[in-house]
Amino acid sequence: MLSEYDGIPIGLKDIFSEKGQPLTCASKMLEHYVSPYDATVVERLKAAGMVLFGRLNMDEFAMGSSSENSAFQVTHNPWDVTCIPGGSSSGSAAAVAAGEVPLALGTDTGGSVRQPAALCGVVGTKPTYGRISRYGIAAFASSLDQAGVFARTVSGAAAILKLLCGADPKDATSARREVPDFCKEIQNNRGKKWTLGVPEEYFGDGLDSEVKEAVLAAVDFYKQQGYTIKPIRLETLEYGISAYYIIATAEASSNLARYDGVRYTYRSPNAKTTEEMFSLSRSEGFGSEVKRRILLGLYVLSSVEYDAYYYDNAQKVRRLIYNDFAEAFKNVDAIVTPTSPAPATKIGAKSTPLSVYLSDIYTVSVNLAGLPGISIPCGFSKSNLPIGLQLIGRPFDEGTPLSIAEAFEGGHDFWERRSRIGS
Ligand code: GLN
Repeated sequence: MLSEYDGIPIGLKDIFSEKGQPLTCASKMLEHYVSPYDATVVERLKAAGMVLFGRLNMDEFAMGSSSENSAFQVTHNPWDVTCIPGGSSSGSAAAVAAGEVPLALGTDTGGSVRQPAALCGVVGTKPTYGRISRYGIAAFASSLDQAGVFARTVSGAAAILKLLCGADPKDATSARREVPDFCKEIQNNRGKKWTLGVPEEYFGDGLDSEVKEAVLAAVDFYKQQGYTIKPIRLETLEYGISAYYIIATAEASSNLARYDGVRYTYRSPNAKTTEEMFSLSRSEGFGSEVKRRILLGLYVLSSVEYDAYYYDNAQKVRRLIYNDFAEAFKNVDAIVTPTSPAPATKIGAKSTPLSVYLSDIYTVSVNLAGLPGISIPCGFSKSNLPIGLQLIGRPFDEGTPLSIAEAFEGGHDFWERRSRIGS
């Protein structure tokens, strides 16, 4: 039977299991691994008649913001090939921006759909935590991981979200909530005047001036449309990165323990004893960022550090971040912020892990609070690099940020512009 999705190609980040296809997570550890089954999202795409189109590059195990952590290659930004495309869903964003594929899936643990979408000038959205089944998606940090969609338009992304969302008996954390027809919601909401919150903290030090200008121009556009604009406070912003890098690494250290050289992974040919097989396979199979995160995760979970400092406190901060958003949402329908503090930087420009971690500042809190978020193109820098606007919604209310995003899209031509590669 024909469906409205029949024959439409969609690209997959190399983190989604597709039966009979390689699944590398851009890691030497899984270089020769072939998935024995379909992820639930892949099953859904196939059942709708969509054409699964290749495997897309990423940062190793979704850890990174640029694709520079891929064990195999660096993906270039189609707007300027000397620049990063963002990450970790780098290939997904770049492929859609370059017009190689109209749609792609990524995963967003701390911003990995929204941030590359912003840097590549496409739409990228993640729904509320639990909306989309994680079954068959290689795990990074299970309490944060959520699949998301890349598209050229908001309604394109909404159509795929609608297909993917829904409870799954194979994922106990998938939400048993009714899934609205997001496309209809967008249509029904046209012309509505919403109340938007603009958090002061997200426009402070460290924000690139061109990004600030473009995002504030977008806020002004909404004002002119008759929206109510409210300055709000989200004071927990500055704690987001620390809490995220404790919780995400702790979960990653546990999730990645399965890659041990015994079963389906890379096995070191240099090992002479069983113990060496474990240790050498892991030290040779994982890249340096993945090892850094595993070590950090094991450290914060170690018995002395656990309650004394890190993990416990990070969980408390996570709750405070959630409360901060919940308080704001008493007065506003959605929150507007920049997606990334700066447009795409040159490949190789960020030399320390910390400088890369800081680029997640506006996205990680959304994952810690489990909220839906979307990034849409809202302008270009003087060097013609895309700038992204982030809209954040209440839990299980994807329809509102999608509708607000579409209102902006309809009033501008940013989404229609083509990158140098692919035009
Ligand atoms: N850049 C963030 C990190 O490195 C987010 C990654 C993600 O969302 N998968 O952890």
